[in-house]
Amino acid sequence: MTEELLIFDAHCDTANVLLEKLSYFIKDSQSHLDIEKIKNGGLNAQIFAIWVNHVYSPYRTIKQALLMYNALEKKIFNPGYGEKVTSSTEMKTAIKNGKLACWLSLEGGHIIENSIKILEFFHSLGIRCMTLTHFKNTDWADSSDDKPKWDGLNKLGRQIITKMDKLGMAIDVSHSSDKTVEDVLEVTSMPIMASHSCSRTICDISRNIPDTLIKEIAERKGYIGVNFFPGFLKKTISDQVNKNIEKYKKEYQEKIEGNEDNPDILNQADIWLFTKIVEGNDKTDLNAVIEHIEHIADVGGVECVGLGSDFDGIPSTPTDLTDVSCYPALVEGLSRTGFKMKEINKIMGVNLFNFLKKFD
Ligand SMILES: [Zn+2]
Repeated sequence: MTEELLIFDAHCDTANVLLEKLSYFIKDSQSHLDIEKIKNGGLNAQIFAIWVNHVYSPYRTIKQALLMYNALEKKIFNPGYGEKVTSSTEMKTAIKNGKLACWLSLEGGHIIENSIKILEFFHSLGIRCMTLTHFKNTDWADSSDDKPKWDGLNKLGRQIITKMDKLGMAIDVSHSSDKTVEDVLEVTSMPIMASHSCSRTICDISRNIPDTLIKEIAERKGYIGVNFFPGFLKKTISDQVNKNIEKYKKEYQEKIEGNEDNPDILNQADIWLFTKIVEGNDKTDLNAVIEHIEHIADVGGVECVGLGSDFDGIPSTPTDLTDVSCYPALVEGLSRTGFKMKEINKIMGVNLFNFLKKFD
């Protein structure tokens, strides 16, 4: 069934796993993506995020990003498991050659260290999307999880958006504050994406997208990829995650004490906390993902919604959507919910392909 489908996901953090762990594309790999799971799931194309923890700001983000890029080269592109692509034509060719088509994005505008020249440099490496913020404000854009500092985008932020338009880089507003998204829509004439965000109406957290913005993004022919993290899918689970953060606050502080200036130790502490936040959480299944897909399709139309799994970047998954090999189950679930095959095709990959094609 999946053979005739294009399966294309807008966000994974596998690059980070590749940098931290040696094994990849082997059967017992601990990542959500490996060659066997990709084959079993029918995944054709993937946007790989180069995510850098904000703790590396302001001086070590470029180094971290380059290390991650290098890990992708060494472990995916050079052995021929996947092909780096920068256009819809390249994507089609890679898939025709039986390769995973790999798009690249930067996750966190802090990575460019406030330099438009560095943005250009990353573009020259083949990176075609940038998520403006992560959990903290950058020096030019507000995050959805931080106290507003710029009331959206400041002057530098607007210059960066204009430059992204000129370069043909897709603007990704996942993690951005609502006001940042509104400012972006005012500055750019291009469609925008929220690569890995859910609906705020269904799960009321600031990290998710409100209906007003879903409508605007959809009207501008943009794309919203639904995130698979249970803590973004269900408010009850999000509350449990926040409780765990409180519970482990003291232990976290002890881990970083005296090392506040050492980003590697701060990063390790974050990775540790990350595994703790899901402790004892309720379970959920792929119907929770479908609920968000349905809602976003209801509000913005079936052409604006798709996958934004966040695989390898989330510490837990729905019980029946544990890695990319489970995509056939999601297809079946969508079909059971009443989506027609043509709509399922759009959701599973065609919408994202059509969105990125506009940047060719
Ligand atoms: Zn993210």
